[in-house]
Amino acid sequence: MSIAICPGSFDPITLGHLNIIRRTSRIFDKVIVCIMNNAMKPSPMFTVGEKVDMVRRAVSRYPNVEVDSSSGLLAEYARQYPGAVIVKGLRAASDFEYEFQMNLINKKINPDLETMFLTASGKYTFLSSSVVREMAMYGADLTGLVPSELIEEIEEKARQWRKK
Ligand code: ADP
Repeated sequence: MSIAICPGSFDPITLGHLNIIRRTSRIFDKVIVCIMNNAMKPSPMFTVGEKVDMVRRAVSRYPNVEVDSSSGLLAEYARQYPGAVIVKGLRAASDFEYEFQMNLINKKINPDLETMFLTASGKYTFLSSSVVREMAMYGADLTGLVPSELIEEIEEKARQWRKK
């Protein structure tokens, strides 16, 4: 069985992430979306538990997609799925440089681990979780940026953050 792992911080999941997950689910038998609890990205807007719940709701229409989380290194996490491939989205040249470096580090830790890239869909190349967080903090309309079933929850979280 072919397995893909789609890692990320998903703070929160956007339609750009979902586009990559959906396309990956058509290529692989099983997709594991892994929410990485990244020590290098401090003070996330959502807790890991909230992110797992939101991503689960967003991918519930795809039967071969599962959701998991990890606070370790991706290359170590992937060891439990021998033969699994990391699949990531590439938006721009800046993504490429970062991903190229990450791939070399992952290979050093786990030489058997391969990474594949899907180019971002044209309509989502501008979209990132940080754009969504910023828009939400200013009370902007999130339609077309995040899965519609999550808009209310993201808006509510932004309201709580504004009070901080
Ligand atoms: P970010 O915080 O930059 O949105 P994540 O760390 O959650 O990103 O991203 C996880 C993966 O999803 C990365 O491979 C990233 O390149 C990819 N990704 C993020 N946004 C998009 C998008 N709009 N289109 C395609 N891929 C994306």
